[in-house]
Amino acid sequence: MKTVVLKFGGTSVGTVDRIKKVCKIIAFYKNNKNRVVVVASAMSGVTNELVNKSKLISNNFDKAEYDALVSTGEQVSCALIAGRLKNNGFKSRSWTSWQLPILTDGPHSSARICSVGIKELNKYIKFGGIPVITGFQGVSNDFRITTIGRSGSDATAIMLAKFIKADECIIYTDVDGVYTTDPRQYKKAKKIKKIFYDEMLEMASLGSKVMQPTSVQDAKLNKIDIKVKSSFVAKSGTLITASKKIFSNQIITGISSTKNDAKITIVGVRDRPGVAASIFRPLSKNLINVDMVVQNISQNGKETDLTFTIKSEDLKKTERLIKKNKSISYKKLSFDKDLSKVSIIGVGMITTPGITYRMFQALASKKINILVISTSEIKISVLISSKNVKKAVAVLHKEFKLD
Ligand code: ADP
Ligand code: ASP
Ligand code: MG
Repeated sequence: MKTVVLKFGGTSVGTVDRIKKVCKIIAFYKNNKNRVVVVASAMSGVTNELVNKSKLISNNFDKAEYDALVSTGEQVSCALIAGRLKNNGFKSRSWTSWQLPILTDGPHSSARICSVGIKELNKYIKFGGIPVITGFQGVSNDFRITTIGRSGSDATAIMLAKFIKADECIIYTDVDGVYTTDPRQYKKAKKIKKIFYDEMLEMASLGSKVMQPTSVQDAKLNKIDIKVKSSFVAKSGTLITASKKIFSNQIITGISSTKNDAKITIVGVRDRPGVAASIFRPLSKNLINVDMVVQNISQNGKETDLTFTIKSEDLKKTERLIKKNKSISYKKLSFDKDLSKVSIIGVGMITTPGITYRMFQALASKKINILVISTSEIKISVLISSKNVKKAVAVLHKEFKLD
């Protein structure tokens, strides 16, 4: 008998009818003699609504209350799923994070799951029950409700699969797998049959929201294979798994893009040890995520220019922090908004020379100006104007034979 964890995302449980459909999928696994554990997200739109309400109540809404608030959506969907399963003759009940408990470490709104209490769960499963567990939420050492970052139900499913030693972990969503690029943005995107953790991690971190980045990292660390499938159509999905070092001749596996990036350039900062740290210290303290960083080579050995990117929503705060930072001096500050990062990702890059050139050449052929470049072993990212993203994805998709 196999144990399967089935995770259903927001759109999959978005309406009462969708919940009824999802219960048919759960019944299929149960009727085929599997032990079934369900993880669910909030009905689509609910978490966003709760976040908006917190902003209307306060500009500086308490972090612990934020988690208590935004985690409620999952309790609703799980109760509805369990209620429907019972209606259909199955033994089922919902579980919230503190009832198991799902223990977390780290700050409110971006905690990480460190353990899952499985004693009661195992008993319940053994006697034929189908537990339906709230994704996204946990409980801290001091018994406060926590959440584990937006889209966190993916990570809940993976950590549950780890702790109950599941044979399979299936992420049911509104697309039938991981595609070479977002299939809703680019019609020629192709479904990927199998993708390695590292590639998926890069794609997810670089903007492919089909999987939450932390969840892919958890899967990699714990060697949990993930299947991504559609809850809308019965089709084969994508397997996310460990690299077996057998590379196909596919060089690039996927293309990701982001929205709402902003760029800051500080012109004429002193070229001395510790200057970059002085610039980024207050940003880090204020939880502003700095992404790409480029420092020019100093012409005179005294001064240099530093460019970095952040999310547009952090631009005002960042500007304020830099202007009141007494430990740095500079000649000029400049800002740019409406930028996007477009990235090509693939383990095949490691063994194939000339990829950077091909990427830049393809973008140049469409007259797309590159503002910042960053690379790792398996990805190349460029910062461009957001208005060129569609064009860039299309030309790169074609160049690397993904069409
Ligand atoms: P869920 O609510 O099920 O967690 P998400 O909205 O988080 O679903 O993720 C699914 C969405 O991810 C799809 O609707 C799709 O538009 C988007 N997406 C972005 N990049 C990709 C990609 N490379 N492959 C598949 N889907 C992608
Ligand atoms: N409901 C949460 C969110 O919208 C978690 C999730 O969907 O995975 O971020
Ligand atoms: Mg998701």
